[in-house]
Amino acid sequence: MADALLELHGVSRAYCSAAGEVVVLKDVSLRIEAGEFIAIIGPSGSGKSTLMNILGCLDRPTEGSYRVQGVATEQMSPDELAHLRREHFGFIFQRYNLMENLSATENVALPAVYAGVDADARTARARMLLETLGLGERTTNRPSQLSGGQQQRVSIARSLMNGGAIVLADEPTGALDHASGRQVMAELKRLHAQGHTVILVTHDAAIAAHASRVIEIADGRVVSDRGMGDPPAARNAAAHERSPEPGAERRARLDAIREAARMAVRSMLAHRLRTLLTMLGIIIGVAAVV
Ligand code: ADP
Ligand code: MG
Repeated sequence: MADALLELHGVSRAYCSAAGEVVVLKDVSLRIEAGEFIAIIGPSGSGKSTLMNILGCLDRPTEGSYRVQGVATEQMSPDELAHLRREHFGFIFQRYNLMENLSATENVALPAVYAGVDADARTARARMLLETLGLGERTTNRPSQLSGGQQQRVSIARSLMNGGAIVLADEPTGALDHASGRQVMAELKRLHAQGHTVILVTHDAAIAAHASRVIEIADGRVVSDRGMGDPPAARNAAAHERSPEPGAERRARLDAIREAARMAVRSMLAHRLRTLLTMLGIIIGVAAVV
């Protein structure tokens, strides 16, 4: 059989707690093909986010294997996993996870900083993505100057910055009112139609109804897997679009360091009191030692 886009085989995830080991994902095996639109449903605490985090290489199974395009992830180093995440996945979270001291454009461009795309190209692409998401007028706004629905659309744009062939959305409408939730779902459907593989976690049956395949999780196990969609074999190129150009690696690294320094300074300026107190602590500490 040809390799699936994503393939979990006998995957379990256990956590150590005071009461001993707790297994929250139990022997999950799944094949996910390119171009599918999947909803993962189940009650709170059933292991949906744990499964999503493993699919997105944000977490690793404690047992079993996980392959991305036929490549086993078990032996990968953290750097290799980060590279895999960057190349293939886009993430959307319930609470948006935007950086408060960055503008919409800067938030969207962030994943490309780590991919080593130069600043002008990043900004241009971030603006273009915001425009397609109906936020062309909001590019300089901070997250606090945007509504929940707008913030979630910024985070959708961010998920597409490096291509986002596979979009993982964990309860993307969970914090939104009905109308904004509908708009976010319309965007996810549009991405699916463009060829992106979309995997969505929800506990809302009405949201899950948008998907062509529904995987139900209960107590860490897959209890049903309905309606294997017919993943269109040849979709257009959108999902395979690669934004990062193969630029000089050295230049990219320098650029990333410069960007990190710039963000550190901005963060210090945004939290002046905290910075001052930290400095005071260091000064007193050093003075005491001297
Ligand atoms: P869902 O997203 O379906 O609500 P989760 O995947 O977040 O569920 O969590 C599944 C179970 O795993 C829960 O019982 C939760 O308490 C537990 N869990 C999640 N993350 C951790 C962790 N880091 N350490 C210990 N237990 C955890
Ligand atoms: Mg969850």
